[in-house]
Amino acid sequence: MAQLPVPGRRGDLELSTTATSRDPDRLALVGRLPRGVVRVLRTLEGAGHEASLVGGSVRDLLCGGEPLDWDVATSAAPEQTAALFRGAIWENRFGTVTVGGQPRVEVTTYRSESGYRDRRRPDEVRWGMSLADDLSRRDFTINALAWLPVDLRRRRGRLIDPFGGRHDLRDRLLRAVGDPERRFSEDSLRLLRAVRFATRFGMRLEPATEAAIRRLAPTATTLSAERVRDELLQMLRLPSAPPSRAMHLMEDLGLLSVLLPELAVLRGIPQSKPVHGDALEHSLRAADALPWRDPVLRLAGLLHDLGKASTLAGGHFIGHEQVGAALAAQLMTRLRFAGSEIERVMHLVQHHMFAYDSDWTDAAVRRFIRRVGVGALDDLYALRRADNVASGVVEPSGAGLTELELRVAEQLRGAPLEQRQLALDGSDLVAELSLPPGPTIGWLLGALLEAVLEEPQRNTRTGLLELAHELLAARSAETGGARTHRNAPAGREAPD
Ligand code: ATP
Ligand code: MG
Repeated sequence: MAQLPVPGRRGDLELSTTATSRDPDRLALVGRLPRGVVRVLRTLEGAGHEASLVGGSVRDLLCGGEPLDWDVATSAAPEQTAALFRGAIWENRFGTVTVGGQPRVEVTTYRSESGYRDRRRPDEVRWGMSLADDLSRRDFTINALAWLPVDLRRRRGRLIDPFGGRHDLRDRLLRAVGDPERRFSEDSLRLLRAVRFATRFGMRLEPATEAAIRRLAPTATTLSAERVRDELLQMLRLPSAPPSRAMHLMEDLGLLSVLLPELAVLRGIPQSKPVHGDALEHSLRAADALPWRDPVLRLAGLLHDLGKASTLAGGHFIGHEQVGAALAAQLMTRLRFAGSEIERVMHLVQHHMFAYDSDWTDAAVRRFIRRVGVGALDDLYALRRADNVASGVVEPSGAGLTELELRVAEQLRGAPLEQRQLALDGSDLVAELSLPPGPTIGWLLGALLEAVLEEPQRNTRTGLLELAHELLAARSAETGGARTHRNAPAGREAPD
């Protein structure tokens, strides 16, 4: 994934412009435009249409970063654009034509919009407007920018900035285009986009913009789950800003309790940890300590203590990991996360309370691996490290988590940990014990693995067959059934 543009370290965003005092809107983009983007602009221009780079791509270029996606606005009608590019896809009624190649460019006909009965989709889209009209329908001044080429070969052009986006970018001020109340009522997603941009660029909210968000925060319930999920993931995936910044802003603006109530209620739940703060602060710090490249793991950090709100009793949170796993699943299901992502987070929340100490036997280490699953170990270590950072806990050097990791690695190298690593399989048992395939075979395989986890040296074909006989004999003795396996030595107990 391309690196998001990161705000400058000092007070201002480092804007890269080639403006002169005689021509303040001049902007040369030498070396900044991929050839594919230039090709799209040139083709449209060559066919007699006006075409400019717009929105987030211009904003990102101005901050010295590389845009994640490229948007072009044009006077050409969608069908005219589509006819100019082989393989172009024109699929929606908003007239966005996607031109393939490297990079992909989204070309949209100048348009204006009116009426948003569902706070999401304009009731009417009108074509054939001007670039200025097109910019006026955009959400924030920093996104209502365009670069209109003057001499494409030399990458020279002019910055079109009718709402003062360049200054707002420099002053780190997020401001809605036009009347904020109206803009946020039109499309509630802008409430979340505001949080994301303010977080990403370290911006303040312009007072009227902020007041409108506060007032309209409850309308975020009308957003589709998918749009909320995607915005949330984008907030968690910012290399330039920790999740806590976005979540604090969401809380402050009244969006957290509306969209993530399970998390919001952790505010005020006391914690006794070396690092002060309630369970919400602790959760935010845990998310911050996880890598931005893995937003779902960050989400696990954010949600790992959800169970604390309802389990606090006598200074303890007994069983909070089970309650928390159910709440995390509830939240993620509501937001339509993929089943595999929900399972990943649930599993981590459920297992995050493991308490290793050096007295664990090798068999205990093997049982731990089995309980957690080999595939989840790295996630769980990462979550524990983040949890430690968030709590102010320092693991003893050479012991604690590092030691557990070493011991786990050692067991993974040698000992069998899964049924498929047993020295025999179900069909061997069917053949050797004259048993029909079915639940008894399944039970036996499970019991054999349990035994091998305790004593890996028993994992030989003969050893396991002998053990299988013992287990069957013990079970039939226990249930008072007939002894069908006369050879089985007695004396061992079947597992419960
Ligand atoms: P990102 O860097 O995350 O891609 P972006 O600003 O480029 O941010 P896009 O979703 O790519 O966001 O949209 C491109 C442009 O379209 C925006 O810069 C903005 O001008 C406009 N836009 C996108 N979504 C909205 C919206 N919900 N309301 C108004 N304008 C929008
Ligand atoms: Mg974009």
